[in-house]
Amino acid sequence: MEKKEYDAVILGGGLAGLMAANIVASAGFSVAVVSKVFPTRSHSAAAEGGIAAYIKGNSDPNDDPDFMSYDEVKGGDYLVDQDAAELLSAKSGEIVHILDAWGAPFNRQPDGRIALRYFGGQTYPRTRFVADKTGMALLHTLFEHATGFKNIDFYNEYYVLDIVKEGKDVNGLVAMEMKTMDPVYLKSRALLIAAGGLGMLYKHTTNSYINTGDGYGIALRSGVALKDPEFVQFHPTGLYPSDILISEAARAEGGILKNNKGERFMARYAPHKFDLAPRDIVSRSMTIEIREGRGFKGGYLGLDLTHLGKEYIMERLSLAYDAAKTFSGVDATEEMIPVRPAQHYFMGGIDVDITGSNHDLNGIFAAGEAACVSVHGANRLGSNSLLETLVYGRETGDSMVNFLKSHKNVESNSNVDDIVNTAYLYIKRESGEHFGTLLNELRDIMWENVGIFRDKKKLEEAVGKISDLRKRSVNMYVTDKSSNYNTEVFNAFETRNMLDVALAVSSAALNRKETRGAHYRDDYPNRDDDNWMKHTVAYLGDSEIKISYKPVNFTRWKPEPRVY
Ligand SMILES: Cc1cc2nc3c(=O)[nH]c(=O)nc-3n(C[C@H](O)[C@H](O)[C@H](O)COP(=O)(O)OP(=O)(O)OC[C@H]3O[C@@H](n4cnc5c(N)ncnc54)[C@H](O)[C@@H]3O)c2cc1C
Repeated sequence: MEKKEYDAVILGGGLAGLMAANIVASAGFSVAVVSKVFPTRSHSAAAEGGIAAYIKGNSDPNDDPDFMSYDEVKGGDYLVDQDAAELLSAKSGEIVHILDAWGAPFNRQPDGRIALRYFGGQTYPRTRFVADKTGMALLHTLFEHATGFKNIDFYNEYYVLDIVKEGKDVNGLVAMEMKTMDPVYLKSRALLIAAGGLGMLYKHTTNSYINTGDGYGIALRSGVALKDPEFVQFHPTGLYPSDILISEAARAEGGILKNNKGERFMARYAPHKFDLAPRDIVSRSMTIEIREGRGFKGGYLGLDLTHLGKEYIMERLSLAYDAAKTFSGVDATEEMIPVRPAQHYFMGGIDVDITGSNHDLNGIFAAGEAACVSVHGANRLGSNSLLETLVYGRETGDSMVNFLKSHKNVESNSNVDDIVNTAYLYIKRESGEHFGTLLNELRDIMWENVGIFRDKKKLEEAVGKISDLRKRSVNMYVTDKSSNYNTEVFNAFETRNMLDVALAVSSAALNRKETRGAHYRDDYPNRDDDNWMKHTVAYLGDSEIKISYKPVNFTRWKPEPRVY
């Protein structure tokens, strides 16, 4: 097998991975960035609404970084590590200035300063944007910057299988070139997992097909913990019926949710913030409206933009307009856009501290949606994820540099062959379970039983069924035996990861007997700070998830009722 050696290997060519790559490379270390798609096709490119930032001299005169941190802490239902939130807010303006300087074409105010809009749960408006294509603009800017480094090699369309380790030391990873199906061992002292989210676990998701939770699955199998995996975000406005995202920007710019009676129903659920209450609250309210018969036939509600006027919609929300027109046949300047909640984001992730370091293995780091720092706690506020990828991508890059300066090479190739042999079994096997059958069952279970409303019975059933699917997956096989771009094989690898992560999500959800943020338990409808003000830490055992806890870091804000 081909073997290449680098100081650092980065799994993921999205915003988090590329930001860290820039930092590690500018310190003079050699870097490999591995991505299963061309980097600019990473899910970061799909981000629409914007990136939150407090910018001195260019924010509401009453705003300051403390308000921003407070919004994050309250938005996350007090499960946020407050030191991490404070760092996120404090560095937000700086990071937007860097991207601005590198060429990201932010929308401007008439006087030339970067424009801003309200997003859900913000006390003052602070979301910066490039129309409704913010992620695309930031990702291209960052990629362009990274390609300027001679010491960054890109492995585009390489699928990462597993981590190579020697005892507790990370030793790189094994990937497979998707075109040739040849394995390659990328050896390194430091490894960053920046593999993005897991939306494909759910039948209804706004995420790309590539968001299959590979980073979490790979981490779990290597003995690395996930923190708070029970916290999954559902976005209020997935386009009906395709679940393509209609950005929160649509409500930020004045869009109103209405039921089949024409009522602005959010007035009943969030009398102050209305449609711009945090996502967990709006998604639950919408589900109640639909369940109680106030939705439209088929199970959706209306998002009304018509009062904004055609010119404004075309300038600020052209992507939402195009998506509604192309995928639902609706002209948003004249009719309401049909929407329903869909899975959107994973607040949980690889357990790292405020420097992006994990402590289960030496030399392993995580950033972006793959990581749980935790700045989002039990519920993420809109436009804080792009910010997290960049702020913590940079922090984590700095930690990797420090690590590389003080850690020598560890010689070994212990589990490299095992990784490859296991992978090839899917191709060699002539019969067994097909990934598609397992995946469809999994996505149904996750949506029905581990979705917006949860209870003991549903969650126990989910854990049982997912455990069965994992047993069946031992015999996974593929019908396509070709050795060029065999996408069926990669789908099987992804399914293996999804099953492992799903077990963690459902087990942790069953374990947490309270309601907090996006984790709503019908059988425990209240927040229980006495017993549950703590992070879940989940490890993968032989056939079950082992759960322990970590304290939440408080700096200034004491828990209070979360009212909007
Ligand atoms: C439709 C949509 C709109 C959004 N809008 C916003 C918004 O307006 N504002 C906001 O703050 N947030 C938004 N978010 C969330 C935000 O975009 C993401 O959380 C963030 O971009 C994730 O960045 P990342 O770098 O962590 O991962 P990603 O950008 O998802 O990148 C993951 C990378 O990992 C690679 N990878 C994964 N598995 C493997 C493997 N096995 N082998 C090799 N490579 C692998 C992928 O190829 C990819 O390069 C949105 C999300 C969605 C889905």
